[in-house]
Amino acid sequence: MLVSKGYGTPNAQSPLGPFAFSRREPGPNDIAVEILYCGVCHTDLHQVRNEWGGSRYPMVPGHEIVGRVNQVGGAVKKFKVGQIAAIGVIIDSCRKCPSCLHGEEQYCDEGPTDAYNSVDRVDGSITKGGYSDNYVADERFAHTVPANLDLAGVAPLLCAGITTYSPLRHWNVGPGKKVGVVGLGGLGHMALKFAHSFGAHVMQFTTSARKIDDALRLGANEVVLSTDANAMKAHTKSFDFILDAVSAPHSLDPYTALLKKEGTMALVGLPDKPPVLNVGNLIFKRAALSGSIIGGMPETQQMLDYCGQHNITAEVEIIPIQKINEAFERLLRQDVKYRFVIDMNSLG
Ligand code: NAP
Ligand code: ZN
Repeated sequence: MLVSKGYGTPNAQSPLGPFAFSRREPGPNDIAVEILYCGVCHTDLHQVRNEWGGSRYPMVPGHEIVGRVNQVGGAVKKFKVGQIAAIGVIIDSCRKCPSCLHGEEQYCDEGPTDAYNSVDRVDGSITKGGYSDNYVADERFAHTVPANLDLAGVAPLLCAGITTYSPLRHWNVGPGKKVGVVGLGGLGHMALKFAHSFGAHVMQFTTSARKIDDALRLGANEVVLSTDANAMKAHTKSFDFILDAVSAPHSLDPYTALLKKEGTMALVGLPDKPPVLNVGNLIFKRAALSGSIIGGMPETQQMLDYCGQHNITAEVEIIPIQKINEAFERLLRQDVKYRFVIDMNSLG
């Protein structure tokens, strides 16, 4: 067994605190990494507090992991000891259903194994995440990192990055398309960077007036305060695609109203309560409301390589792990620019 230390919680009511546990020894196809950085996703907060149901305790969250390889199994081909590796939300899957065979492990028929809060397919334990000093995973579910990128800024690419890259690619966001991003948080700011980089005309929707300048700096052609009904109406029936990355319950209707005929709105944000829908906004335009989750292993590597080529990383505020509970509260107040990343050195 590998001895691990991290931050975890025994139940939905307690704050995160120091927690010791163990991981399986790396098998022939596994790598073990010493974690350098782990991003703080709003999903961690939803899961720690059991806002979606199904949380398993004790829980160690964290699925935006960048580390240095310190052990490799005998059959490992992609990594050598000392190399940087990145591990995201998915650390295993059935590997034989049509989605897995297509490299879309996020849609595995049996359900992927997540970095935490899942049953490990190898030893049956409950997976523990990256708010910790080490991680063990099959190399198939680990990624190489372009050497030119800042590692703290890379960590959020493993969830916020791929979760926005994948739908923007799937719906062919690019030149000539008018694209909206709803919510300028961890996911939203990556969506903005990618949509801009892909050449679309991008509009950022935000509820936070203080974020307008940042949105323009991060690549928005225009910014609309979604609380301003008149400003919203000015864009009626003009969008090809809108990506919604909001963490809290909110009405989708003001956005579906902005879709063109046959436009698509895709949801990646997963609030704890479902929306009520004005179906007319869809049927009178043959518009689509869809959703998307993370991304498969080949596309995650493709996204990292794209980020290397285009020098794209997340905007991060680095925190010591001792500040994680405060960071959760700040996340709820939308007081982060634009992703907290834990420096795992702080574990001591
Ligand atoms: P985040 O950093 O907290 O950003 C969420 C943003 O939503 C905020 O910055 C804010 O943007 C907006 N917002 C928050 N409360 C709002 C409210 N009451 N009304 C309207 N807008 C509000 O969160 P994140 O880490 O980006 O995650 C966003 C959501 O995506 C979470 O629900 C998370 O669980 C989910 N998620 C899904 C996937 C997937 O694969 N589908 C992957 C990762 C995360 P403004 O200040 O600009 O309004
Ligand atoms: Zn996440």
